Amino acid sequence: MSMQSDSRIFVAGGSGMVGSAILRRLQAGGHTHLLAPSSSELDLTDQSAVRRFFHAERPEYVFLAAAVVGGIHANATYPADFITSNLEIQMNTIQSAFATGATKLLFLGSSCIYPRDAPQPIREEYLLTGPLEPTNEPYAVAKIAGIKLCESFNRQFGTNFVSAMPTNLYGPNDNYDPMNGHVLPALVRRFHEAAQAKAAEVTVWGTGEPRREFLYVDDLADACLFLMNEYDGPGIVNVGTGEDQTIAELAAVVSDVVGFKGRIRFDASKPDGTPRKLLDLSKLHALGWRHTTTLREGIALAYGDYLRTGGRTPGTGVDSVEARLQPRAGAEVLPPP
Ligand code: GDP
Repeated sequence: MSMQSDSRIFVAGGSGMVGSAILRRLQAGGHTHLLAPSSSELDLTDQSAVRRFFHAERPEYVFLAAAVVGGIHANATYPADFITSNLEIQMNTIQSAFATGATKLLFLGSSCIYPRDAPQPIREEYLLTGPLEPTNEPYAVAKIAGIKLCESFNRQFGTNFVSAMPTNLYGPNDNYDPMNGHVLPALVRRFHEAAQAKAAEVTVWGTGEPRREFLYVDDLADACLFLMNEYDGPGIVNVGTGEDQTIAELAAVVSDVVGFKGRIRFDASKPDGTPRKLLDLSKLHALGWRHTTTLREGIALAYGDYLRTGGRTPGTGVDSVEARLQPRAGAEVLPPP
């Protein structure tokens, strides 16, 4: 069954990069009953608030695009935040979608759920066949738990909860924080600032040799609507471009798009993370969906967004989560061990 123009559709994480792209795509498609409370209106880590919301609004379709996300440095610095908040968000949303009889839920995972040394390109069935990349293991374990939550509700209760695994994403509303963001927005900012300052050199973390695949977030949003409407099958579905490049190649494209004229230096004392994570897209392509935005076009669009917003976008930053992990008013406070 497809979403109708008046279906009640909840986009969890609607102010983040992925959720806001899904909302734009839904609006463009003529959907009118969109539910997208901000995190200050609805804290998805608060179980009773999420229950109240679902019982009041009874969403029929749920895009679970809310997550605490960050780059390689943020994952190393805030592992407890990444695992705790993501498990809470997923449990609360998925349980409430079940309890209020949602027609369908689409859960968004990540390509980091696959084993570090998985054969490339990575097929969906390689999930849980080997050890994870240690730099983002707590985040990946939370996302794997989300997949298993969906599958378990489907098996036990006959729900229609499907999971999509996007590759590395970028686009409007990205997190341009130089320390906590992912590589692409971090480089957009660093090369832009270097170009402005006419600096001689820009430093890129790691050896430049790891390979990554990048998908423009509006393409992901299009794939999410496609899967929500067309895919009821079992099993997770990879979403990407099927093409990857080295971090050095990525840096060269970003440098060119922002007009930086100096040298690029690699700081091998910073971690490389997983050597490669290219997704196999046979399943998605066979279903009938392909991306349309090339990397250079997407980076130019993302750079336009960066210039418009000055890199100050709301998004799901890590800082807000640190504050949230403080005891809530009225919550039982356990004495320190
Ligand atoms: P990952 O795909 O989960 O490893 O996450 P990231 O997007 O954080 O990092 C991808 C790769 O880009 C890693 O090899 C990083 O070392 C490299 N990289 C180079 N410069 C940067 C930077 O400024 N920020 C981040 N986050 N990564 C960088």
